[in-house]
Amino acid sequence: MTTRTPLMAGNWKMNLDYKQGLSLVEDLGDALKGGDTDAVEVAVIPPFVDIRTVQTAIDANKYPIAYGAQDLSEHIGTGAYTGEVSGEMLTALGCTYVLVGHSERRQYHGEDENITNAKVKAAIAVGLTPILCVGEGLDERKAGKQVEYTLAQLEGGLEGLSNEDAGRVVIAYEPVWAIGTGEVATPEDAQEVCGAIRDALGGLFDDEVKETVRVLYGGSVKSSNVGEIMAKDDVDGALVGGASLKADEFAKIALYQ
Ligand code: PGA
Repeated sequence: MTTRTPLMAGNWKMNLDYKQGLSLVEDLGDALKGGDTDAVEVAVIPPFVDIRTVQTAIDANKYPIAYGAQDLSEHIGTGAYTGEVSGEMLTALGCTYVLVGHSERRQYHGEDENITNAKVKAAIAVGLTPILCVGEGLDERKAGKQVEYTLAQLEGGLEGLSNEDAGRVVIAYEPVWAIGTGEVATPEDAQEVCGAIRDALGGLFDDEVKETVRVLYGGSVKSSNVGEIMAKDDVDGALVGGASLKADEFAKIALYQ
């Protein structure tokens, strides 16, 4: 059994304007009331333009909810990078987390291992916790290469990190074929790759990194399947897309009821 505090993070993707985001975070705060929120860490990951609103609502109401961003610039500091949002801007908004290398960034925005690695480092440099997303597509899964493919992304994303920095990263295993498809990996599939990720962390870094880094599962997580996935030894939380847009459902997932 794991002693790592589970992280249940809701990735809103390109959904909800700031008013809708405000309603969702207020409803989520209410829905979490009475739940054992000491035992888990609940986080929301809204679009950039909703973050300030979410921050204000969480601070004012003392909701037990952390928050973060879906991406950040690999450029550090300030500069002529039109359209980019720096890690410093996110920490100034009180963000704890930032997704890096989500499969949709890799697929639609050409983010390769170099960019992903630079973003992981940019996040760590300003004290954000990167949630590095890795996972195979359907072709690799059919070819039985899910572990190999995912571990290559893991290594690329974490290249050059010290043990101390690697210990601050969260990994999200998200098989691409299970994202937004309703097709959820079996708990055994999730454990196979999450366990391989943990072993690989032990090979790349020291044992403390292996034992402390949280490995999340993502891909069509719902309240009806979260319990069996969370029961697996090497799954330390969930990255939830579609189901995180409904407060009651996401609260049930987060408390895994
Ligand atoms: P999903 O998305 O839960 O809608 O499958 C997960 C994700 O992409 O983070």
